[in-house]
Amino acid sequence: MTAPPLPGGRPPRPRSRAARRAQAAVVLERLTAACPDARCELDYETPLQLLVATILSAQCTDKRVNMVTPALFARYPDAAALAAADPAEVEELVRTTGFFRNKAKNVTGMARAVVADHAGAVPNAMDALTVLPGVGRKTANVVLGNAFGLNEGIVVDTHVARVSGRLGLATGTDPVKIEEELVPLFPRESWTLLAHLLIAHGRRVCDARRPRCGACVLADVCPKMGVTRLR
Ligand code: SF4
Repeated sequence: MTAPPLPGGRPPRPRSRAARRAQAAVVLERLTAACPDARCELDYETPLQLLVATILSAQCTDKRVNMVTPALFARYPDAAALAAADPAEVEELVRTTGFFRNKAKNVTGMARAVVADHAGAVPNAMDALTVLPGVGRKTANVVLGNAFGLNEGIVVDTHVARVSGRLGLATGTDPVKIEEELVPLFPRESWTLLAHLLIAHGRRVCDARRPRCGACVLADVCPKMGVTRLR
C-alpha cells in the first residue's frame, strides 16, 4: 500500500480507486502466502454435487454438510435420481444441516429444473444458474468458480463481507453491492481464489468477535473499520 501510516500507526482509510487497488494487491499477495491451503471446503466430485452441497451450506458449516453429502450423493447419483426423489427421504438425509424442509425442496426442485431445462447437466452460466430453485448469485459464483473454473464474480459470504469491510475495500452491507465494489479491485483470474483467501483469513485470524489484529499479516495495511476490540 502506498499511503504512509499516520503517526498513531493506523493507516488512513483508502478512498481513491487507485489506493484501494494498491491495497488490494497487497492483500492478495500476503493472503496467498499466508493461506496456501485456502480452497473450497465442500466435498464434491461433479458440478451437481457442488451445487447441492452449496445449497445445503446455507446457515450451516461446511464440515456438517460434508458429513451428510456422501449418503445423499450415493442415494441420488445424478440429477434425474434427485429429481425423482421422495421429498421426505431427502429431508431425512439433510436434516442435520438445518432448515431441512426448505433445503430438500430446493435441491429436488433444482434437480427437476436441471433435468427439464438442461438435459440433466448443471449449466455453466450465471443467468441459467440463478433461475434454478434455491440458487442465488453467491451459490452460482461458488459453482462457476470451483466446478467450472470460471471467474464470473466473487463469492461474498459472511467472512468475505466482514473482512473486506474491515479492510475498507468495500463499504456496503448488501452482498451484491460488496461484490460490485471488490470486482474492480482484483484481477479477474484471482476472483475465485480471493474468496477462499478472505474466508480462510476470516476464520483463522479476522474473527467476527475477536479479530487477532496483533497476529495479522495485513495489520499495517488495514484501517480496521468497525473493529473496537483488538487482540
Ligand atoms: S485481523 Fe485486524 S488487521 Fe487483520 S484484517 Fe482483520 S481487522 Fe484488519
